[in-house]
Amino acid sequence: NSLFEAVQKGPAIEVFALNRAFLEDTEPKKANLGVGAYRTNEGKPWVLPVVRKTEIKITSDETINHEYLPVLGNDAFTKAATGLLLGDNSSAIADKRAFGIQTLSGTGALRIGAQFLRVILDRRVAYYSNPTWENHHKVFADAGFETLRSYRYWDQEKRTIDFEGLLADLDAAPEGAVIILHACAHNPTGCDPTQEQWKQIADLMERKKLFPFLDSAYQGFASGDPEKDAWAVRYFVERGFELFVAQSFAKNFGLYCERVGNLTVVQRNAASSEAVASQFTWLVRGMYSNPPAFGSRIVATVLNNPELRKEWMECIKTMSGRIIKMRKALFDRLTELQTPGTWDHIVSQIGMFSYTGLNEKQVRVLIDDFHVYLLKSGRINMCGLNENNVDYVAQAIHTAVTK
Ligand code: PLP
Repeated sequence: NSLFEAVQKGPAIEVFALNRAFLEDTEPKKANLGVGAYRTNEGKPWVLPVVRKTEIKITSDETINHEYLPVLGNDAFTKAATGLLLGDNSSAIADKRAFGIQTLSGTGALRIGAQFLRVILDRRVAYYSNPTWENHHKVFADAGFETLRSYRYWDQEKRTIDFEGLLADLDAAPEGAVIILHACAHNPTGCDPTQEQWKQIADLMERKKLFPFLDSAYQGFASGDPEKDAWAVRYFVERGFELFVAQSFAKNFGLYCERVGNLTVVQRNAASSEAVASQFTWLVRGMYSNPPAFGSRIVATVLNNPELRKEWMECIKTMSGRIIKMRKALFDRLTELQTPGTWDHIVSQIGMFSYTGLNEKQVRVLIDDFHVYLLKSGRINMCGLNENNVDYVAQAIHTAVTK
């Protein structure tokens, strides 16, 4: 008898299962609107030219070796990442109240931040938006959070933010609760609070003493402008909040598999920095000891060199520009077809995702009859659209809605 016989198979991870089904599908017209990664107009993954150039430079640099990085990561990278997020002239950085920890991409930043909040600060309650990125729940549950609740976010009827619901739910949260907020380009809805709404959220969180944990997976990728996409984070920092921000360089550098991330820690006083960093050191030590170097070297080289940084800014404009163009193209086709329902949200939403409002039955029609793959929540990745398939996808949506 094997010890492992009794092990039950866990459920499939929807987004990866969907991707596998897409790859196995032999229909030439198939379209993948599922997985969250950028695709070119030819439907191919894109290595940013500035990233390609930099990685070649790094691999041929004989002064670079494979010694371990420090436990909290590559200093040149964490400083550049924190600067990109808070602004290079941020007073929190100048005052040494803010610092970064290199993490295993955005997920790792969320996990190590959650671990610190649970183990060191004894926080037990966290809130995430309904809906949210499907991994928030698991990351916080695995870090030991006992109470995970959601706050209202999406109004299915109006296809916009349920702001009243959001405020009411946060108002009912207990003092000290951790509130996960999407810094920009909310996944999956593509709807962000307005600046005025962010102010109201901040007022409430200040009054109720709630801890903001911002998740920044799309800085620069969302609007093409990293300053603009960091607005909410910087606003919270200027207001004097102590907070964490999980940063991912998967999307904005196209470094998905290299796992490049940063956890930015902002405190009220610089005096606590040393102790906080030392506790993070022990948490990391027990989990994976120290992070991988390669991706962090690419990001640090690019962000710390004005020429390369400029090239990167062009790349993020190319990516965000193509997404915006595809939003418009899909909207125009659905309008031409007079597909029942309102589709304005397709163009007003931001980032690579759109919550279409399609129901599960319509999603099944798209997958089974048209080989158009999307999550059952109706979320689509705009990057899966291109000039060659947008007509086909629009027609498929039209048929699914009118069937
Ligand atoms: N948070 C959000 C909202 C995301 O959409 C993603 C990726 O899709 C992540 C975090 C983390 O991604 P990664 O761990 O690949 O950086």
